Amino acid sequence: MRILWKRDCGNMDPISDPLARRTFLEKTFEVLLHAFGHQAWWPADTPLEVVVGAVLTQNTAWHNVEKAIARLKQEEMLTLARLAHTSEETLADCIRSSGFFRQKARRLKAFVHHIVERWQGSLERFLAQPLPRLRNELLGLPGIGAETADSIILYAAHQPSFVVDRYTHRFLMRHGYAEMTYRYEPIRRLFMDTLPADVALFQEYHALIVTLGKRYCKTKAQCLGCPLETLLPSGGQNYDPYSESAGSY
Ligand code: SF4
Repeated sequence: MRILWKRDCGNMDPISDPLARRTFLEKTFEVLLHAFGHQAWWPADTPLEVVVGAVLTQNTAWHNVEKAIARLKQEEMLTLARLAHTSEETLADCIRSSGFFRQKARRLKAFVHHIVERWQGSLERFLAQPLPRLRNELLGLPGIGAETADSIILYAAHQPSFVVDRYTHRFLMRHGYAEMTYRYEPIRRLFMDTLPADVALFQEYHALIVTLGKRYCKTKAQCLGCPLETLLPSGGQNYDPYSESAGSY
């Protein structure tokens, strides 16, 4: 699909041009922050709540997660000790609103079991590991993929690992900075290799992209009036590779 960009923009290849990448990512952040303001993410009181939210938000909308978290709080279950001693069935019932609740209960129990067994119940020490080790360990746990792992690292451990999601891919692809096929790691590297490793910057940037994706850069792009409209590649506001492909999400 890079062909689309080349067709529209001559020989420029923004994906492999470091200066173009940096200028685009810096400008995008500046414009989005100005348009949407500070997003105050992640909405959680404790690192454990971030972990639980990161697992529960898999394949569901955040408002469903909020209901599940509220129920867990109501049952006073948002502590490692309570989660460790609660049966998988009881936990599944509490998080029912988040969908795939049995699978998610199993994943949460596996996570808690790992912290209890391997880290003597210290989530704090687990999260304080150097980033590469922490990421590898998270990725080795059942049901923890790259997006969940990076969410935990960035918002619970406060370490600089950029979180990528479909919203991130969609807007980058439409602006010529990602391939048509969604591949997590190249997009993560795009941010990590271009921007300073700044936790607050990464936290804010990801949150702003989610807001962008929900308000404007939807499955069908609403470029007119979008804050990033002026940053579209030549081809104009109606440039939309999705309209030229069978796929959408
Ligand atoms: S201008 Fe269009 S393609 Fe770019 S982020 Fe906004 S909606 Fe998406």
